[in-house]
Amino acid sequence: MLRRITIQRPLSIVFFLLACCLVMSRPARGTDARPIIHPVFEIRDAQPQLKQTIDSILTAADRQLAAYGGIAFADTIVVLVATRHEQFDSVVGGRFPDWGVGCAIPELNTMIILSPFLYPYQIELAEVLRHELAHLYLHRLAGWSRLPRWMDEGFAMLIGHQWRFGDDWQVGRAVLTGEELTLHEIDALNRFGEGKAHLAYGQSYLGMKYLLDEYGWDSFLLFISELRRHNQLDPAFMAAVGLDYAGFQDEYAAYLKTKYNWATLLSDTMLFWIVIVLLLLLLYLFKRRHVKKKVEEWERATPTDDIFYPAGERKDQEYPGIGQQ
Ligand SMILES: [Zn+2]
Repeated sequence: MLRRITIQRPLSIVFFLLACCLVMSRPARGTDARPIIHPVFEIRDAQPQLKQTIDSILTAADRQLAAYGGIAFADTIVVLVATRHEQFDSVVGGRFPDWGVGCAIPELNTMIILSPFLYPYQIELAEVLRHELAHLYLHRLAGWSRLPRWMDEGFAMLIGHQWRFGDDWQVGRAVLTGEELTLHEIDALNRFGEGKAHLAYGQSYLGMKYLLDEYGWDSFLLFISELRRHNQLDPAFMAAVGLDYAGFQDEYAAYLKTKYNWATLLSDTMLFWIVIVLLLLLLYLFKRRHVKKKVEEWERATPTDDIFYPAGERKDQEYPGIGQQ
């Protein structure tokens, strides 16, 4: 489960000036051969070994983003490692679910994580760091325009490699029971409980994956570029995918319905056999419980001797010698 929320704060002039210093590298698939300048990671409050681990994870993630998406920034990214929850809360402003372990603060070019030594995560440290780095990069790329939350989280999950079989199952179950979220609803993610937030993260990932699979990376970058220029979702979506935001949400909702229905779920071979095994297991447990209950009822209603011996005839009467030796 995830584990971070991005804070939206008013922009200051300082941060606006920082935005003007943004250095973007070329798209990896382009022909421009300008050198990519990478950031420096300033890691605070971590032991030397942890510091080295964090630096190597973030450096690799930065290279991956530059190589795949042409996204890189020449700057210093601060990584705070909180050794106390209070320290973490004071940085993120108390607007963070208690199940989070990391948070990106794009306008400060900073991320904060709870120390993995003191607060064991349910996920890999690398996932958290890649996730937070993706938030920082995406917000900077968008010039701090307001991003749809699902896009923000979905992009971070893609870069964080955070999609698992259980996520697929959770989203599928929500769709089959009509409890899936709209993309717009995911904007309220910070107010969700852990279960609903998990669903929101899964749907965010699928939303981002759908956008990239259906329209391509270049369309996504065009969307971000338009959003940076106009700070409005409708024209940005229109330029990138030919639909306004509501139209794209409808298309995504239809995609979910197509992806998750009983026929397609059961056509997944592994899922099919998992369902069969679970059903057989449930059937076995039900039958065993039923038989046990019946036997107990019989024993209560009829003493065993009454079943095997005619009325009035006792076991010791049939074998008079028994019990007297
Ligand atoms: Zn996130």
